[in-house]
Amino acid sequence: MAAPNHFDTHEVTNQSPPFADVDLFAVDPPLRDAVRANGAAADAKALAAFGQRWGTAEMFDLARQANENPPQLRAFDAQGVRQDFIAFHPAYHLFMAESIAARLQASTWRADGGAAPAPAQVTRAARFYMAAQVETGHLCPITMTRAAVAALAVEPDLAAKLMPKIAAREYDPVFRPWPEKKSMTLGMGMTEKQGGTDVRTNTTRAVAAGEGYAITGHKWFLSAPMSDAFLVLAQAPGGLSCFLTPRFRADGSLNGLRFQRLKDKLGNRSNASSEVEFTEAFALRVGEEGRGIATVLQMVQLTRLDCAIASAGLMRMALAQAIHHARHRTVFQKPLAEQPLMQAVLADMAVEVEGAVALVIRLCRSFDLAASDGREAARARLLTPAVKYLVCKIAPALIYEAMECLGGNGYVEESILPRLYREAPVNPIWEGSGNVMCLDVSRVLEREPEAARAVLAGLVDEAADLPGVSAAAGFIDANLSAAGSQARSRAVVERLANLAAVAALRGSAPAPMPEIFARTRLAESRSATYGASDIPMSDAASILRRALPE
Ligand SMILES: Cc1cc2nc3c(=O)[nH]c(=O)nc-3n(C[C@H](O)[C@H](O)[C@H](O)COP(=O)(O)OP(=O)(O)OC[C@H]3O[C@@H](n4cnc5c(N)ncnc54)[C@H](O)[C@@H]3O)c2cc1C
Repeated sequence: MAAPNHFDTHEVTNQSPPFADVDLFAVDPPLRDAVRANGAAADAKALAAFGQRWGTAEMFDLARQANENPPQLRAFDAQGVRQDFIAFHPAYHLFMAESIAARLQASTWRADGGAAPAPAQVTRAARFYMAAQVETGHLCPITMTRAAVAALAVEPDLAAKLMPKIAAREYDPVFRPWPEKKSMTLGMGMTEKQGGTDVRTNTTRAVAAGEGYAITGHKWFLSAPMSDAFLVLAQAPGGLSCFLTPRFRADGSLNGLRFQRLKDKLGNRSNASSEVEFTEAFALRVGEEGRGIATVLQMVQLTRLDCAIASAGLMRMALAQAIHHARHRTVFQKPLAEQPLMQAVLADMAVEVEGAVALVIRLCRSFDLAASDGREAARARLLTPAVKYLVCKIAPALIYEAMECLGGNGYVEESILPRLYREAPVNPIWEGSGNVMCLDVSRVLEREPEAARAVLAGLVDEAADLPGVSAAAGFIDANLSAAGSQARSRAVVERLANLAAVAALRGSAPAPMPEIFARTRLAESRSATYGASDIPMSDAASILRRALPE
C-alpha cells in the first residue's frame, strides 16, 4: 500500500502569487512622472523595455542564485602559486553583462569622458533604480566604474586610453590585463584599518618607480576585487595622492595585490568586498601629488548619488511586494489591502517612497544641468549629501515594515524581503556614513553660504504654498550661520532633504501627493512608525492605486 501523501490533506489557498513578470517601469507611475518632469519623457519607451526585462521571473530567480552563492577567494592555484582570483557565480556575471549592455557604467559620459548631455543622468538613474529593485550587489562595480571617470578627468590622456574599455557594451570577465579585454571595470581603495572617514590617516605609501609608482600598504575594504583597476589613495612624497592601480603590470604579470580574505557581510552577498595588501604594486598617479582627496571626491560625489538611487529602488521593491501581497491575501473576509489599518500603513509607505524617487530623480536633473547652470551645480553640491543621508537612512525601517505586511512569509528567504532588508544598511554606511554626510552639508553651507541660501530660496519658491515649507526653511536658515554647531546638523539636514523632496514632488506628482508629503513630513511631527501619519482614508486608496496600478 502506498504511503499517504500528507500534503494531500489541504489545498493551498489565499497565498499571493509571485510579484514577477511585471514591467517595472509601467507599474511605477511615480517613477514615470519623475522621469517625465525631469526632461526624459522621450526615453519612456526604452525605459519600459528595460523595466520589462528586469521584472521577469527569470531575473528575480537569477538574483536569488547570485546571492545564495557568494563569491569565493582563490588566493592560490592547485600548485600553491598565488593567483588572487575571486570566483563569482554565473548569475552574478549575467547581471554584470546586462547592466553593462544597458551602459549603467558609462551612459552619463561621452566617448571622450566628458559629461553626456541631459537627460543622461535622469535616464540612467531610472534604469539604476529598476536594477536595484532586483539585484543590488553587482551594482557596486557598476557605480564605481561610472563614478571613476569623474576622477580620471584630471588625466585626459589616461582617460582617453581607458574610456573605450569603460564605455564598451560587452562585459568581459576574463582575468587578463585590461588592454587585452573588450571592456573593463574599476573599483576604489580608500578605507584602511585605522580609518575610513579620516583617510588622511592612510598609511599606504607610494614611491616613484619606473614609469609610475610602487604602492605598499593595505586596504581594509576593497569591493569588487575582480575590477581591472582601482583608484587607490596612498601617501606620496607630496602628500596623500590618488593612483590607478591595475590588476596586472604592463609586462602581463600579476600586479602586487594580495587578497587576504573576503568580508563576511550582512548583505550585499553577491558582491565581494576584500581585505588586501599591496606589495610594491605598480600604479599610475591620477592628479597631482597631495591632491588625492580632491581627486577622489569627484568620484565619491557620484557614488553617493547612486547610494541614494539604489536605496530608493530597494524601498520601491519592498513597497510593491507589500501592496501586491495585501491585494491577494484575505483576512476576515476582506483583502488586506481593503482593511483600513493596512491601507493607512501602505499609503504612508507609498508617500515615503514617492518622495524618495522624486527626490533622487530631481537631484539627477541638477547633475544633468550642472555644467551650464550654476544654480543647479550648487543645488547638486548642497543636496547630494543631504539626499544620501535621508534616503539611505529611511530604507531599512521601510523595508522592515513592508516585510511585516507579508506576515510570516515576509520573514522567509524565499520572499525577496530578507535580502532587501539585509542590503539596505550598506548604503548609509559606505561612501560617507550619516554623520559624515551631515558634516559635508555643513561644509558646503560654510564655504558657500550665498549659493546655499539661493538653493534654499529656490526650494521655497517651488513649493511655497505647501504646509511646513516656510517653517522648515526658517529653521534651516536660522541654523545656516550656526553650521559649526555640529550637534544640530542632523536636524538641519533631515529638514533640508525633506524640503527638497517636497519641491521635487511639486514638480512631478499630482495632487494630493505634494500636500500630503509636506504636511506629514515637514509640518507635523513625524511618528516613529508607518501608518501613524494623518492621511485621509479617501486619499489612501488613490495613493495605493498610483503606487501600484492594479
Ligand atoms: C559592504 C562595504 C563595502 C565597502 N567597500 C569599500 C570600497 O570598495 N572601498 C573603500 O575604500 N571603502 C569601502 N568600504 C568602507 C566604507 O566606505 C567605510 O566603512 C566608511 O567610509 C566608514 O569608515 P570606517 O568604517 O573607517 O568608520 P569610521 O570612519 O571610523 O566611522 C565610524 C562612525 O563614526 C562616524 N564619524 C566619523 N567621523 C565623525 C565625526 N567627525 N563626527 C561624528 N561622527 C563621525 C561615522 O559617521 C560612522 O558612523 C566599504 C564598506 C562596506 C560596509
